[in-house]
Amino acid sequence: MSMTFSGQVALVTGGAAGIGRATALAFASEGLKVVVSDLDAANGEATVEAIRAAGGEACFLRCDVTREADVKALMEGVIGAYGRLDYAFNNAGIEIEKGKLADGGEDEFDAIMAVNVKGVWLCMKHQIPLLLAQGGGAIVNTASVAGLGAAPKMSIYAASKHAVIGLTKSAAIEYAKKKLRVNAVCPAVIDTDMFRRAYEADPRKAEYAAAMHPVGRIGLVEEIAAAVLYLCSDGAAFTTGHALAVDGGVTAI
Ligand code: NAD
Repeated sequence: MSMTFSGQVALVTGGAAGIGRATALAFASEGLKVVVSDLDAANGEATVEAIRAAGGEACFLRCDVTREADVKALMEGVIGAYGRLDYAFNNAGIEIEKGKLADGGEDEFDAIMAVNVKGVWLCMKHQIPLLLAQGGGAIVNTASVAGLGAAPKMSIYAASKHAVIGLTKSAAIEYAKKKLRVNAVCPAVIDTDMFRRAYEADPRKAEYAAAMHPVGRIGLVEEIAAAVLYLCSDGAAFTTGHALAVDGGVTAI
């Protein structure tokens, strides 16, 4: 499948690490100009350096996706840097839970919801007018297989990712006739810092994580990036409101 991205502009939140960094690199390798955004400026700039080292074009704009003033300034910065926005990958997310639902704290709930739900909502709220003004585009939000089913000991995270899918589907229908497509990608366990933080304390958990995927391994960041690029591409022109599991078969069980 050929991609038709050359000269267009993509924004990636959570672009300093993991899935976001890999997707920023993948967009750049297809000829897009990429705005890398994150809370973490040092690692965000490192993503930009990696893109430039590979011959691509990118810049870094810091943003805390939980703050509307930051998100508004980010979208203004995108237009200031490259004059347009074609694709947005709303990917910044956190996972900090360690126990069952009744063990959770209010702070934990508020923090997870602020980044994973409010952050995606704020980003879409400020991206949609830009995309509509240009005659369309595509948004991909990072949900999770935890947005498609139960996630024991991650109930708040699961609720947040179900909410991401709700935002995705609702926006997709609202703007379906405006050439604006909105989809979600739903990874299973992917080899990133987030995964390592969750599993480093107990190597048996890493073995369990691999074994729970029918393909016998956890996923790679590049495998999520490929799905995001597909959802942005003309090949997915008839796909909107979809939550695409990229999960080594987990949700097929
Ligand atoms: P990661 O921790 O490696 O990267 C997440 C990035 O988001 C970090 O660079 C972090 O600084 C940034 N971030 C956190 N809070 C932010 C905020 N308020 N504003 C802006 N940036 C912020 O994690 P990852 O594994 O690459 O996760 C990326 C996305 O994928 C998340 O939404 C996560 O929930 C989702 N996901 C991850 C997995 C997995 O197994 N790794 C599985 C399913 C879904």
